[in-house]
Amino acid sequence: MHATPAAVAPAAGRHNAPMGNGIRMVAFDGDDTLWRSQDYFDDAQARFEQIIGGYVDLADARVAERLYAFEKANLAWFGYGVKGMALSMIEAAVEITGQRIGAADVQRIVGMAKELLRHPVELLPGIREAVADIASRHDVVLITKGDLFHQEAKVRDSGMADLFRRIEIVSEKDPGTYARLLEEFGIAAGEFVMVGNSLRSDIAPVLSLGGWGVHMPYHTTWSHEADASVDAGSTRMRSVESPAGLVPAVAEIVAAAASGAAP
Ligand SMILES: [Mg+2]
Repeated sequence: MHATPAAVAPAAGRHNAPMGNGIRMVAFDGDDTLWRSQDYFDDAQARFEQIIGGYVDLADARVAERLYAFEKANLAWFGYGVKGMALSMIEAAVEITGQRIGAADVQRIVGMAKELLRHPVELLPGIREAVADIASRHDVVLITKGDLFHQEAKVRDSGMADLFRRIEIVSEKDPGTYARLLEEFGIAAGEFVMVGNSLRSDIAPVLSLGGWGVHMPYHTTWSHEADASVDAGSTRMRSVESPAGLVPAVAEIVAAAASGAAP
């Protein structure tokens, strides 16, 4: 058997082409797109502040700001998710209290993390129907980041795993990660739509590669995920308020991609 050059040539360069011939894949984020997540982190942070309030005057301590500084610096060490949050809280507690934090309070912080990890999965209202509808027309995949164990458990408990052709749990959602996934999927950026609540993780990197995005903001966003610059006028992005808007937004993108309307 001989492969002629003509048989292999057509695919060359296609993966990196910004424009495709139409939408071939729709990807969904997990946390705060399929299921609630940030609310639990916000709760944990409020309880952390209560604990710290036993040691210092909260009005002067800039607790939220200092905790966030630890969380941000620790992303490179521990990655995203509950474990990194807990370790950052312990570090921040030690520093903010001038090393006076008691062992029982450290235990409380670890207990909060465990509680967060076993919280039942709560799907956003209408999301299952929206994903099922989109999955009946397109290949859908799930791309989520965070603690591997926790994300695997949430995917399993969501009861939605069957809808996705592939489930990717990644350590960071940046242009490099999306480019690698698109290469693996054999999909050009212009044939790809990412749906998610985070401009930083779901929308900006995909737009930068030439892909499409549907931004569905959640009512609360971690400072880190809100920290992004996105061209609000991008013709390759749509914004929706709730899962009910997803099917029409994807249909609009499919039509725009097919007509070659986007730059
Ligand atoms: Mg998210």
